[in-house]
Amino acid sequence: MRSCPEYSTTIEDFLTAQNYLREGAECLDATWTSFFKKAKLPFRKPGMEFISKPTKTRACGNMDGFWGGAYCQDTQGLVVLVDGWMLEYEGTPFLFYVLAHEYGHHVQQRSGIIKAHYKLMPKSTKAAYKWHARLELQADCLSGAFLRSIWASTGRDSHDWQQLLTYIKEDMGDPTHGGGKSRAAWTDRGFKAGSPSVCNTYKAPASQVA
Ligand SMILES: [Zn+2]
Repeated sequence: MRSCPEYSTTIEDFLTAQNYLREGAECLDATWTSFFKKAKLPFRKPGMEFISKPTKTRACGNMDGFWGGAYCQDTQGLVVLVDGWMLEYEGTPFLFYVLAHEYGHHVQQRSGIIKAHYKLMPKSTKAAYKWHARLELQADCLSGAFLRSIWASTGRDSHDWQQLLTYIKEDMGDPTHGGGKSRAAWTDRGFKAGSPSVCNTYKAPASQVA
């Protein structure tokens, strides 16, 4: 994966966050476009919308009650909501992690993983949640692999990475995405490898995707 700089790191409000996300988006586009090219797979960039409050979006329709980020496979577009909650993570690459996670879903879409995922989705709600967590944890792993590719050029250190993992562990767990501990572990796994090759959550034992 190529590296590209994280240009502006001061995020104070929606506007600066939006600029930050736009720069990150360019970096994600470049990284994944070249990755797909090397793998000789067709690729198309996702649509991206950054919003400051829950509203109607092109990619995902009405986003009332929505939190953080979303990827909508029908339109192949992603949305990131930058509200007060998100801005509390100022000074860490948390926003970038959210963006890279949603972009990870687009990578899953373009590579046929989402289609296969829904085809094999179990019927019972409980089993479906567990199955879905594998998709989410893979997106975390893809996010980590991507973040590794920019880390050296950002001037961030291992302390910043550990801080991000702590936020993920403490705040990001839920039944459909996996527990916070698993989310942090898969993000870190992708980061350590710096490659999506370690991101096969579908082959992982249940204990790692709980
Ligand atoms: Zn997700």
